[in-house]
Amino acid sequence: KKWVYLFKEGNANMKELLGGKGANLAEMTNIGLPVPGGFTVTTEACTEYYNQDKKLSDEIVGQINDYMSVLEKECDKEFGNADNPLLVSVRSGAKFSMPGMMDTILNLGLNDETVAGIAKATDNERFAFDSYRRFIQMFGDVVQEIGKEKFDHVLEAAKEKNGYKDDTELTADDLKAIVVAYKKIVKDETGEDFPLDPKDQLLMAIEAVFRSWNNNRAISYRNMNDIPHDIGTAVNVQSMVYGNMGNDCGTGVAFTRNPATGQKKLFGEFLINAQGEDVVAGIRTPKDIDELKDIMPAVYKQFHETAELLEKHYKDMQDIEFTIEKSKLFMLQTRTGKRTAAAAICAAVEMVEEGLITKEEAILRLDPIALDQLLHPTFEAAALTAAELLATGLPASPGAATGKIYFTAEAVCAAVANGEETLLVRKETSPEDIEGMYAANGILTARGGMTSHAAVVARGMGKCCVAGCESIKVDEAAKQFTVGNQVFKEGDYISLNGSTGSVYKGSIKTVTPELSGHFGQIMAWSDEFRTLKVRTNADTPKDASVAVGFGAEGIGLCRTEHMFFDEHRLPSVRRMILSESKEQREKALAEILPMQKEDFIGIYKAMEGRPVTVRLLDPPLHEFLPKETKDIEALAVDMGFAVEDMLTIIQGLEEFNPMLGHRGCRLAITYPEIAEMQTRAIMEAAIEVKEKYGFNVIPEIMIPLIGINEELTYLDKVVRNTAEVIRAEKKSDIEYLVGTMMEIPRATLIADQIAETAEFFSFGTNDLTQMTYGFSRDDAGKFITDYKEKGILPNDPFQSIDVEGVGKLVEMGVTLGRKTKPDLKIGVCGEHGGDPKSIFFFHSVGLSYVSCSPFRVPIARLAAAQAAL
Ligand code: ADP
Ligand code: MG
Ligand code: MG
Repeated sequence: KKWVYLFKEGNANMKELLGGKGANLAEMTNIGLPVPGGFTVTTEACTEYYNQDKKLSDEIVGQINDYMSVLEKECDKEFGNADNPLLVSVRSGAKFSMPGMMDTILNLGLNDETVAGIAKATDNERFAFDSYRRFIQMFGDVVQEIGKEKFDHVLEAAKEKNGYKDDTELTADDLKAIVVAYKKIVKDETGEDFPLDPKDQLLMAIEAVFRSWNNNRAISYRNMNDIPHDIGTAVNVQSMVYGNMGNDCGTGVAFTRNPATGQKKLFGEFLINAQGEDVVAGIRTPKDIDELKDIMPAVYKQFHETAELLEKHYKDMQDIEFTIEKSKLFMLQTRTGKRTAAAAICAAVEMVEEGLITKEEAILRLDPIALDQLLHPTFEAAALTAAELLATGLPASPGAATGKIYFTAEAVCAAVANGEETLLVRKETSPEDIEGMYAANGILTARGGMTSHAAVVARGMGKCCVAGCESIKVDEAAKQFTVGNQVFKEGDYISLNGSTGSVYKGSIKTVTPELSGHFGQIMAWSDEFRTLKVRTNADTPKDASVAVGFGAEGIGLCRTEHMFFDEHRLPSVRRMILSESKEQREKALAEILPMQKEDFIGIYKAMEGRPVTVRLLDPPLHEFLPKETKDIEALAVDMGFAVEDMLTIIQGLEEFNPMLGHRGCRLAITYPEIAEMQTRAIMEAAIEVKEKYGFNVIPEIMIPLIGINEELTYLDKVVRNTAEVIRAEKKSDIEYLVGTMMEIPRATLIADQIAETAEFFSFGTNDLTQMTYGFSRDDAGKFITDYKEKGILPNDPFQSIDVEGVGKLVEMGVTLGRKTKPDLKIGVCGEHGGDPKSIFFFHSVGLSYVSCSPFRVPIARLAAAQAAL
């Protein structure tokens, strides 16, 4: 079996086998770009390594050695030869990019002899030993798991002793001494000498890269990004080029467009006389790529042209790593550039305008979920003018965030678990901080550039980040930072603007953004392609208008109970629930009626004639009752009951399993007067809005939790009789529909019967999932993570619809319902209505619309377009 491929033998389509880095190195090699020679050990070899109990098979080792010989010939150098040594990098690279999660080792092949050979060949002893000390540290860290800090201490001590600021000031003799000290660290820590045979070094490094696939940060990165755990990483072995040979050398990273805004202009950073990680590690502050134009005009020109060529070749924004050795450019990596949602949209629209891609390609390439970033708040202008600016850093990832500061990822996670809004503040972040970064509202670092770890990761997450804010002095151990003479301690509030880099004192109020320009263009194209309509779940006029602003075409679910929780209404609601006679109850309902009617008027006005589906009261009644003794006593006084009687009534309403108890249509069957009051409010409001404002409202009255056909026929009569009375009273010919939720599995099984009465269906996939699995929605969180970790469930079925089980019921409900009424309007109003994967499914079974929370509407519009393409 072939376990190893020369770069020449691969191409960009072989990501699965060669990993993203390897496939793109191959592609760049084959289109004639200057890529240092090398080969890729496949992801299959990684899987094989794990299957063989973490051992490389003889066959794999044999092929690695053979390809090493090929590489030696290609480079005209020899691995381990003291006079003309070949040095290589050993680089991880999985199918999906996992920036910084796995390990890479540079300058492999160095030992006490080859280092002298390098010094002689380059006539640069300083460079040779600089490479050697880097190699021992990386090898010690990655392969021998010694930890960087021990090495860093030695380096820092050497700098301090000599009064140097920068690593580049270290002399050859300093570096020689450092190499000796480093080797001693290795000996002390491992009990063995540093391995000097390059062949041993290579195999040990390859195994270490395979092992790094399963380090903790890589695992948690995969969990967060839904990347499978069993696909393994490839290893790229590549001959070294040197950015650290002097001032005509350097290394850098650049994007073909601005990854924060999408603007079409090279965006990146570089360092002169530096190697590999120096740029991203934030050790020295890198220079803007524009400055390369002045320092090395010819190299800049070549790089610029290469970047354009790569973008045209891949038809997408690229993220490129390069190194300059003695004024010669080498390409070390290219991949699709991670970008903010704003940049993704800007670039997609502009690439269509440039003729690089089609509208369809533009739509398909966007991640609907990422749009979320654009819909989220910015600071309120007035609150912002009043805010005190503390400092300004780099605008690393846009958005506004406010929260209490914490100085470690663990502290952030703990505070978030307590329901706090948090910001992570650190000197600089590293891959170990990833979970804290994910949990925090925003990230502030004191060091690092626009391509620092914090910046790259935050942009990927769509999280607000201010990086390299040098005027704050972070003391992680003391859990505080100082700026000027002000001290901020753990738990203090600050606010960040990741679009400007500003850091403010205190918490600042935020507002929702305008959506136009490129965003509007993408939405307009989405609307051209999609066939599924998009409605919103909204219970207030405010939510309704936000949703209309986002393009909602109606309300698919208006939950009336939310209106009952208002503190001014709760007393009447409680009186209604606790009434002992029908008269008492009707009196209480009469108090609620005008308030409900006001609600509907507001909502209908906000919807300007778009359809509105109103669901009759759904939750178990005890949810509305007081729990604290003092509230119970007050209520007793208010209703003229003895406290004990009140307690008895409340206890009587308690249920063992309220979600399967007296709720939904079951309430209205016991107390039809509730449904009558609600119908009256719905209808009178519609008539009034039609007469006063001219909006032709057609209310859709939805009966929840139907499982038995007779439940529906009974309540359908209650609702229709009431509606007819009102039409007669008001002499109105207003239209209305009566339909049902499909959320009890039984209802989907008899959907043909139900469709005889129901004028529309709406799948309540939250309850349907709950009842199909028999998972309590409120308790499933406790075990679903275990299920996911143990491979029992691929994902949380409450987030993304379970196509094969719950989906089958949906499909059956659609088929049976439409057998009775061929053009039955069918929607979905659970959480799944805003989940792109679920939307693909709903499109495929022919639903008429999805309904989701207002902020999900644009996501659903885009996902529906993708589903149709
Ligand atoms: P990551 O996936 O973490 O970016 P890479 O494998 O891309 O790791 O390596 C990190 C950096 O190391 C590269 O960006 C490049 O600067 C440097 N590097 C890797 N291989 C070589 C090489 N053959 N010659 C010179 N520099 C290299
Ligand atoms: Mg890289
Ligand atoms: Mg429900």
